[in-house]
Amino acid sequence: MKEFDIIERFFAQQSHQRKDVLLGIGDDCAVTRVPEGQVLATTTDTLIEGVHFPTDTPAEAIAHKALAVSLSDLAAMGAEPAWFNLALSMPNVDENWLESFSKSLFDLSQYYSIQLIGGDTVQGPLIVTITAHGFIPQEQALQRSGAKPGDLIYVTGTLGDAGAGLAITEGTLNVSEHLQTFLVNRLNYPAPRLLAGTALRRIASSCIDISDGLAKDLMHILQQSDCGAKIAVDKLPLSVALKEAVDIDTAYRYALSAGDDYELLFTVSEERKGNLDIALANANINATCIGHITGAKQKLELSLCDETYALTKTGFEHFSA
Ligand code: ADP
Ligand code: MG
Repeated sequence: MKEFDIIERFFAQQSHQRKDVLLGIGDDCAVTRVPEGQVLATTTDTLIEGVHFPTDTPAEAIAHKALAVSLSDLAAMGAEPAWFNLALSMPNVDENWLESFSKSLFDLSQYYSIQLIGGDTVQGPLIVTITAHGFIPQEQALQRSGAKPGDLIYVTGTLGDAGAGLAITEGTLNVSEHLQTFLVNRLNYPAPRLLAGTALRRIASSCIDISDGLAKDLMHILQQSDCGAKIAVDKLPLSVALKEAVDIDTAYRYALSAGDDYELLFTVSEERKGNLDIALANANINATCIGHITGAKQKLELSLCDETYALTKTGFEHFSA
C-alpha cells in the first residue's frame, strides 16, 4: 500500500466536516478560518512507542491518547478544539492496525468537533505526532503565570489512577480484574477536560493540565507565577478504585508524582470563588480544593493532616511539625 492510498483510505474519508475548513486533506496545505474576535491556540505532542506508551498498547489506545493529550493542552488554555494535524511514522503498513487506529481517532475527534486537516505519513519507528488548534476569545487564554498568594488551588477529577494503570501494565502491581480495567483505561483513554477549560475562562487565575504529575506541573505554575503553594495531601481526590488497589501512602505518591492523569490544575482568587462554584455546578464538573498559593517563591509545601510531608524517591517521609 502506497502513502497516497493509506491517506485516502484511512485518513481522508471522515464524516466530520467543519465549515471553517476551506481546504482540508489533499492539497499542499490546509486552509482554515479563525472566527472574528478569537485567537488561535496551537499545541504539538509526540508519542513514541516504548517511551510514551508500552510496545503492546492497542492501536485504539495509541490514537485516543495521542489526540487526548493535545486536547488536554487546549483544555488547559481554555480553548475550544477546531483542527488537528497528524504526523504518523510506522515500521510497516498493517491495515488492521490502521483501521483500528483511524476509527478510534475519528471517534474522539468527532466527539469534540475537531477535524483532521492534514499531516504526513512516513516509514520508521512507531511515532505519532499531533498538532492541535483551538479558538480562545481574545484576552481569555488561561495561562500558567497568573496565580497570586491567597488563591485557592483546585484539581478536576481524581489523581493517580493512570500511575496505578502504568504499574499494572508494567507488571509491578497486581489487582483484581475490575480494578485493572478501570485503572488501565484511565492510563490509555484519558478524558480531556475541555468543558472545564472553557468554564474556567475569566475565573481561573492560572491553569495547567497534569501530564507529568501534580507536583511537577504545579511547579510550572509556581515558577511562572513566582509564588509558592501549600497542598494538603489528605485532600487529594482519589478514586475508589485506586484506594482499593494500593495502600494510602502509595495512592498519595501516585496522585502527587505519577503522570498521565490529564486532569486540570488551576487557581482561583477568593473573590472569584463564587463564580467558580456556579460555573462548576452548571457544567456538572467535579473539582476539589487541595490547597492555596503562598508568597514563598517557588516553594511547594505538603502537609498530611496538618503534619509536614515530604516527597522522596521511594514515597513520603513524615515530619512532625
Ligand atoms: P506533500 O508531499 O505535499 O507534503 P503528502 O503527499 O505528504 O503531501 O500529503 C498529501 C496530503 O495528505 C496533504 O494534504 C497532507 O496534509 C495529507 N496527509 C498526509 N499524511 C496524513 C495523515 N497521516 N493524516 C492526515 N492527512 C495526511
Ligand atoms: Mg509530505
